Formats: sequence, structure tokens, C-alpha cells
Amino acid sequence: MIRISPKGDILIDTGWSEAVRSDPETAIGPYAYRICHPLLPPGQSIREQLEAKNKPVHQLRYVLISHMDVDHISGIHHLEGAQSFIVSELEWNGAKGHQRARCQGITIHPFPLKPIPFGPLKLGKDLYGDGSIYLILTPGHTDGLISVLVRVQDGWVLLASDAAYSRISWSEMILPGYTSDDEMAFQTLQWICEFSQREDCIAVIANHDPLVKEASF
Ligand SMILES: [Zn+2]
Repeated sequence: MIRISPKGDILIDTGWSEAVRSDPETAIGPYAYRICHPLLPPGQSIREQLEAKNKPVHQLRYVLISHMDVDHISGIHHLEGAQSFIVSELEWNGAKGHQRARCQGITIHPFPLKPIPFGPLKLGKDLYGDGSIYLILTPGHTDGLISVLVRVQDGWVLLASDAAYSRISWSEMILPGYTSDDEMAFQTLQWICEFSQREDCIAVIANHDPLVKEASF
């Protein structure tokens, strides 16, 4: 979650649904279950984490779906009542039926990609229109994958989503385990690597990196 006052908090992705604790195969579908067995320790669902932070769901200004992989949208129903759910138009248009079905009952607002100053293709969205948060198209893992660039006091923090699974992804140029386009994934990783070396890059954070801890910038 990115906390930016007074513009409103932005939550990136939903994590696993609590349903994976009792019946994971039904909860994520047999295909996904063949590939991964979800683990959701007590207190770690998005509902539980927001509750622990005393953060009512309706106060979330945006829930950004970085991409439509099941581990990123499975818990979406725990967030019913958030103000706006957004996903790139490219990702939404390419989503499979079972992925869209997970969002049933939730109004999703797909956003078009426009020219921005950052990213491997310089496409995305200036979320608040003031350059404080850029949603950046970083394709390769999926076609419409979005990373998030946040302006902080002394520079930028880049949330690299699944374009990179952890820090060694861009330091050693290791592609994500699953890609929709290897070449594009490499180009994206190269951009992340270059961005990480900028003097005004305060941090690059990957979604799945076990070393990531809560921090203020
Ligand atoms: Zn993914």
C-alpha cells in the first residue's frame, strides 16, 4: 500500500483470497493449483492486514491490479467497497475468462496507456496528473503489466511488480519464471536495471522479494 496524504491511499494488488486456506484447489482453479500451492498464514490476507492497520476498505482511493495473475487478484472480493479498481486496458483486454470471472461483481476501470516520461516503452498513466505517481507499462511477464513509480522527497521509488521477482532479477538479469514475451521482459528488466542506477532512485522494490519490509521514504 502506498500512503499519500491527502490524495488517498493506493493498494497494489490483492494477494490470496482467504478461501485458499480451506479449499485451495477450488479457490484458485485446478490449472493454477497444478503450478502453485498458495500459503496464506494467519493475519496475512489483505482483509486482515488492512484491519490490523485500522484501514477501512472504503478509504482506499485506488486498488491497482498490476496484472491479472491469480496470486494478484484472488483476494479482490475482500476489497469490495474500495473507491476505484483500475487495471491497464491492455491487461484487461487480454485477460482470460476465468481471470475476469474472479472480478465478477466488482466494477473495474481499465485505463488507456498514454505517453509518459518513464518506462521501457514510455507508456502508462500519470495517476493524479501531477507527476507524483506514474503507472508504467512494463510488459514481458504479461502484456499489460504495470509497475508503479512514486515520487518521494529525494527522488523516486519504483515498485517493479512482477517485472522482477526480487533484487537479483535486475542485478543479474534473470527473467520472471513466466513470460508472455521473453524479449520484452528482457527490455523491461534492462530499463529497471538502468533506473535502479539513477542517482535519484531511492529504491526499487519487487513484489515477491521475501526481503521487502514495510518502509517510509
Ligand atoms: Zn505474475
